[in-house]
Formats: sequence, structure tokens, C-alpha cells
Amino acid sequence: KPSSRISGIVPSGKNGWEIHFAAMTRKQAGGRVIMLSVGDHDFDTPEGTVEACVEAVRGGHHHYTQLPGLPRLRAALAALSQECTGTETSPDEIMVTIGGQGALYAAFQAVLDPGAHAVIVSPYYATYPGTVRAAGGRYTEIETHAENNFEPSLSEIEAALEADTRAILINSPNNPTGAVYSRETIERIAEFCRERDLWLLSDEVYWTIRSEKEHISPRALPGMKERTLVINSLSKSHGMTGWRVGWLTGPAGMITVMTNLNLVATYGLPDFTSHAAIAAAENGFGLREIAELYTRRREAFLDAIRGMNGVIVRGSEGGMYVMLDIRAIEEDCEKFAWDFLNEEDVAVLPGASFGNAARGHIRISMCQDEETLREAAKRLQRFIAARL
Ligand code: PLP
Repeated sequence: KPSSRISGIVPSGKNGWEIHFAAMTRKQAGGRVIMLSVGDHDFDTPEGTVEACVEAVRGGHHHYTQLPGLPRLRAALAALSQECTGTETSPDEIMVTIGGQGALYAAFQAVLDPGAHAVIVSPYYATYPGTVRAAGGRYTEIETHAENNFEPSLSEIEAALEADTRAILINSPNNPTGAVYSRETIERIAEFCRERDLWLLSDEVYWTIRSEKEHISPRALPGMKERTLVINSLSKSHGMTGWRVGWLTGPAGMITVMTNLNLVATYGLPDFTSHAAIAAAENGFGLREIAELYTRRREAFLDAIRGMNGVIVRGSEGGMYVMLDIRAIEEDCEKFAWDFLNEEDVAVLPGASFGNAARGHIRISMCQDEETLREAAKRLQRFIAARL
């Protein structure tokens, strides 16, 4: 029998991913499904990165690497982190992890004692609750609202606080809402963490993909370097989802302790992947192009649904998704997503998969070209027209 810790990570029952898997099965069977359900690019990893990997494999990079990451990789990621967070970052403040998910996992393991409490902001990336539970922790989800651009208010955070709250997790640019938090919001949360002696975990994996609104990292704010753990990855920014390269930026002392987790959990990244990641990070392969591509796609899709009755666009300042409020058509977002798939062959995810605050919404991924997104918008229009 599996341990209760393992069984408790993801409670059994239906989840929104079933729609994605059903759509995949239909597509593989020859169906003309438009897949807008996941956050994975429709294009390959940039050529320069692939070449660097091939060279590394041919060049004998087949061995264990150093923990917590090859020195040159830590240096390259420190430079990237510096650009992302706007703070001076040294290689000893970097721990390389298996994807951004590995960084999230390590962060919660590092700040939560068994039974300790964390605050997460809803709507959220679907793995957050399970990652807290895997660390033996508990969480409260605070709901954010479209009227406030899905940015959390201090009163909501304060109300969620418990005696043993250790950390707050924020994510901007946000998955699923696309919200990019304002400087004021980040400043308020940072000040609160300083006052209450809390860790601030900041998931910044979409930092490059946003409209003109600036990206603010709490690490850059006064007194925050020592209490912020930044979660990052090359998956989205450099088109490397399948390569599983992520990292944490945090205080050097904390990184040293956390390296023990690296030791027992993964023993680091593959050697050749590390070399590809060095090339990607040092040369910025794909970085600017991918950011511009998603901005264009988001604009094209928003343009195509502009004025459409029955849906309200929410957030949508960054990231790889557009979230739509569909309550004027259907309260039950899971039913909406299933019906849309069944009737129009378009796969989107129900908001309910991303926390209570996203109920009544659907998340649409921009991971298809502009023409396909326009076709999806057409099908959405037809689907809605049949219901109004
Ligand atoms: N954080 C957020 C907000 C994400 O959306 C994702 C992936 O979709 C991750 C973290 C995980 O990133 P990675 O694929 O690098 O593990």
C-alpha cells in the first residue's frame, strides 16, 4: 500500500486534464482537434541549443555532473537570473533543478516543516497544491478577482495567515490568468513578508513573455534577497519544455543546505542537457523570438474574439494563456470545456483545474500558430452562438 504522503499528493477524482488526454486520443486517431489545452510549444527547441546538445553527446559529456549544477551552468543561470530579477546574483545563489517543477518542489521542501502552512494565490498553476502536500505541508488558497487584475490584496493574505504560516507563493506573469502583477502589489506583499518573517516564493517562469508591462521580482526589493526563493526554468523562455532545466535563486546559505535535496532526489541534471542549457542561457537562443511570438499570438487571438458576445477576456498581459469568463453561457466550466471539445473539436482546460477563483472560466493556450488560433476563435463563436 502506498504511503499516505504519496497517496495524498493529488486527491483522487476527476480533474481537468482528462479533457486534454481525451483530446490527444482523438487527435492520434486522426481527429481534427485543435489542441489549446497545454502550455507546451508547437515548435522545436532552437537549433543552436540542439546543436550544443549533439556536440556534448559526441564530445563525451556522459557523466555525473556537480551539485548543485555545473559551475558554468550556475554562472550562466546567475546572469539570466540577474536579468530576470534585476538584482546582482552570484553562481552560489543558484541551485539547478529538474525543471521549474523541480525548483517548486525543492522550495517547499526547504521552507515547510511537516504540518506547516503556506498561502497560495488562486487561480494558480495546477501543481501547487500537490507540491505543498508532498512537502507534508498545508495551504490556504486565497482567491483573487478579475476586477483587481487577479492580484492578491493584503487583507486577503492576512486573513489566510495562521500561526505556523511559513511562506507565500506568487506567480507573475501568471498561469492561468495572464496577469502581470504591478510594482505596488509586489511591494506590498514583500513588505508583509518582511514584517511577518515569511518566505516569499516567486514563480517567474514566464518572465520573458509579457506585453509592455514591466516584470517585477520581489528579490529586487529592499530586505528581500534573504527571504525570497525565485523559481525559474528554461522551459518556456528558451523553448525547452522537454529538457527539464530549471533553477532556484536564493540566499547562498539556503542553497548550500538545499543541495542535500539535490543529492538525494535527483543527483543533478544529465551532463549533455547541462551543456545544452549553458549554450541556451549564454546565447539567449530563442529568448526574444519566443517572447515576441507569444505576444503576437495573444494579440491575434484577442483580436479574433473582440466583441464576441458571452465571453469576457480576463488578465492577459503575459504568459502563454488567455483566460475567458464564460459564465454568461455556462456556469459549469468543465461542462463547457467538454461540450466545446465534443462539438467543435477544440481542447481547452476548465478553470476549475486552477483553483476555485478560476471556476466559470476556461484557459486557452496560445501554443498554436495564429491561423489555428483564429480558426479556434471561429469555432468558439459558433459554439457560443448556438447557446445564446
Ligand atoms: N510554474 C508555472 C507557473 C508553470 O506554468 C509551469 C509549467 O507549465 C511550471 C512552473 C513548471 O515549469 P517546468 O516545465 O520547467 O517544470
